[in-house]
Amino acid sequence: MPNSRAAINYGRPKPRVPGLVRGYVPWTVGLILAQAASLQAASSFPAFQGDRAFADLKRLVAFGPRPPGSRALADSRQWIVGQLKSAGCGVDEDAFVASTPEGDIPMTNLIARARGDRPAVILIAGHYETKLMKDVRFVGANDGGSSAAFLLEMARLLCRRKNPLTYWLVFFDGEEALREWSATDSLYGSRHLVQKLTASGELAQIQAMILVDMIADAKLDITKESRSTLWLSDLVFSTARRLGYARYFVDRPTPIDDDHIPWLNAGVPAVDIIDLDYGPANRYHHTPEDTVDKCSPASMTIVGRVITATLEQLEHSPRLY
Ligand SMILES: [Zn+2]
Repeated sequence: MPNSRAAINYGRPKPRVPGLVRGYVPWTVGLILAQAASLQAASSFPAFQGDRAFADLKRLVAFGPRPPGSRALADSRQWIVGQLKSAGCGVDEDAFVASTPEGDIPMTNLIARARGDRPAVILIAGHYETKLMKDVRFVGANDGGSSAAFLLEMARLLCRRKNPLTYWLVFFDGEEALREWSATDSLYGSRHLVQKLTASGELAQIQAMILVDMIADAKLDITKESRSTLWLSDLVFSTARRLGYARYFVDRPTPIDDDHIPWLNAGVPAVDIIDLDYGPANRYHHTPEDTVDKCSPASMTIVGRVITATLEQLEHSPRLY
């Protein structure tokens, strides 16, 4: 991912899902409810296995640099589709041609669908391509690898589960700028899919978008992306605190442009879970040093546990239709 850039306007956030605010309850009752909720949380989702996700991250890196339109990206996409189908997901390939400063480039988003009892959709997303870097070998273990690997493990948890809500797992192509980050040279896949779902009318089904990016840093410190929808961001960070992960989810506002922005612009509540502090003075970010040895399965487990516990709470929200 991206630059920590100046704000993009994201229009009016529609209050589709008011937060999970409860009225006052006596503390003993509150305690019992909290215990019951956490027991339920423990039983409802299979455990997110960071080791399995990390094996996927290594496999993706083995394809080499994976910029948009490359053979390596096509090969990795084919491998991802195979993994998703083995996990029991329905998979759509959303192919389009992006007009970029490097010319027209064919790109493909992948959408894995996990059925649910209710039509309300929670979208979980990340990018799977790596930044085009012509002069160096950039394999994007964390930046591109970790988000795709995270989504594959989520697919294993969700696609054969009896879900109360519908889940879409979206692998974006073309998140990175081909040259200089700008409103038109970045977020190609995300912008394309928002347009497509707006035109088809399907966008209205999406109740929340949870984006992950660069979440495998062995020294994990996720900050609070400040343009993310507040109730959703608060839900993620309070869940992290409850699980004892406050030191990995740092409550420090940080504005970051990423694939969630087009969804915010379209009125979809969205949160970006990102650790943009990668190596000493961010030295590994967008450099050949973004390699497997800088990443850790433990970090992926932490993020996986926080997100599955967050989903658990969304599933128990009576406000989602
Ligand atoms: Zn990047």
